[in-house]
Amino acid sequence: MKMKSFVQDSGPNGTVTKPCFTCAHCSRVVVMHRADQDVGFCMKCMHHTCVECGGSERCVPFEKKIDEYEKRHAARQRLIGALG
Ligand SMILES: [Zn+2]
Ligand SMILES: [Zn+2]
Repeated sequence: MKMKSFVQDSGPNGTVTKPCFTCAHCSRVVVMHRADQDVGFCMKCMHHTCVECGGSERCVPFEKKIDEYEKRHAARQRLIGALG
């Protein structure tokens, strides 16, 4: 598993560095507390996801959601502009 980044986690044994990655679907940062921790993986966009997103068959990358939002927003701005 290829990890993008690490987080510093302070616990009773001092500060430990744990690998983490960003869910490709909801953009949540998932910290790997254990090596055998369950994580999701989307076979459609070939990215790691959090467990919640991994349980879903839908592939909705976060960027796509933003894209759709911006398109809707732009369309509304045009409409408002047309109404004067
Ligand atoms: Zn997710
Ligand atoms: Zn996906």
